[in-house]
Amino acid sequence: IVRARGLKLAFGATRALRGIDLDIATDEVLAITGPSGSGKSTLLHVLAGVLTPDAGSVLYGGRDVAALNEADRARLRLAEFGFIFQFGQLLPDLSALDNVTLPLLLAGASRREALTRAHAQLAALDLGDHERKLPTQLSGGQAQRVAVARALVTSPRILFADEPTGSLDSLAAEQTMGALLKAARAAHSALVIVTHDARIAAYADREVIIRDGRVSLNNGLLAAARPDGEEQTR
Ligand code: ATP
Ligand code: MG
Repeated sequence: IVRARGLKLAFGATRALRGIDLDIATDEVLAITGPSGSGKSTLLHVLAGVLTPDAGSVLYGGRDVAALNEADRARLRLAEFGFIFQFGQLLPDLSALDNVTLPLLLAGASRREALTRAHAQLAALDLGDHERKLPTQLSGGQAQRVAVARALVTSPRILFADEPTGSLDSLAAEQTMGALLKAARAAHSALVIVTHDARIAAYADREVIIRDGRVSLNNGLLAAARPDGEEQTR
């Protein structure tokens, strides 16, 4: 579903990405791991079209994400991508239900349809009793599951998650991961998870380790992710 080639990105003198090639298959759960500062979040943001690389390309369904204009990119993100960010998850003044309804309303759903889908997604994540609460009234694990619900409610084709369980204790982390995987598989979404937690990475189909802005290990079969007969772009 994604084919990235030769990605480079520098912030001033910091070369965060130094030439990354990566393929992501439809339906795949991919873990991106590596030391702090190695470029994981930057890579995720480039893959998702949030940051534009200095060099290289990200093909998504054959389209070069970096080459799209901002309006088309925003449309693509809204319609086909889901996000769970490392920091600053839920809108603090909105209830859990309103947080989950919002992306559907932005995508043009009617209020009624948005509510129906948000209720179902929250129920699937075991949050039916907490819909009316504000983020501050939820436990850490519940808030993280609301973020999962919000990311998945639009049925994205690919979900990008940056340390989705980062601030949780191990039990809550495991519950959140279990819920995330189950929901992503039910929606047939590809899932890309940035994590430093080896136990979380163990849930993935494949793990890619980033060191100093480069791929240092790709333990899956990159070739298997490539459709037959297509040539590599470099
Ligand atoms: P962590 O595990 O701590 O989240 P990471 O692997 O996600 O780390 P990145 O956030 O991708 O690391 O950062 C890679 C490098 O780029 C770091 O050296 C960081 O300081 C730098 N960097 C990231 N974003 C910016 C920015 N907006 N401006 C300047 N430097 C940045
Ligand atoms: Mg990070």
